[in-house]
Amino acid sequence: MEKCLFCEIAKGNIPATIEYEDENVIAFRDINPQAPIHILIIPRDHIPTVNDLTPDHQAIIAAMFQAVQKLTRDNKIDHTGYRTVFNCNRDGGQDVYHLHLHVLGGRKMTWPPG
Ligand code: 5GP
Ligand code: ZN
Repeated sequence: MEKCLFCEIAKGNIPATIEYEDENVIAFRDINPQAPIHILIIPRDHIPTVNDLTPDHQAIIAAMFQAVQKLTRDNKIDHTGYRTVFNCNRDGGQDVYHLHLHVLGGRKMTWPPG
């Protein structure tokens, strides 16, 4: 089976700029940032897409949003604002099939996102 890029980052086998980690999640800088602050929050467990989430993942989902709160506070964008995004499957623009929550901020976001 082909190795999963984000599992390898989570295991420390591929380097990334880690911003936060706990027993459930890891957050690191996106390699191709779309905003001055662009962080990806991933579960340590390999969950491919939002469609694969189950009630058993409650603790992981909560941890992802607690990480959003901490990271946006630390980067001082919690009050000015930011965007969180889960891309899912082809039409959602998902490229990496290990669940990840984009956190984008540091500039004014536009809508619709395109
Ligand atoms: P998706 O399109 O799947 O929602 O987002 C995948 C994200 O992963 C993209 O924003 C892309 O820039 C980022 N990415 C892809 N490969 C790497 C990598 O090796 N390291 C890091 N830090 N980010 C990556
Ligand atoms: Zn994975």
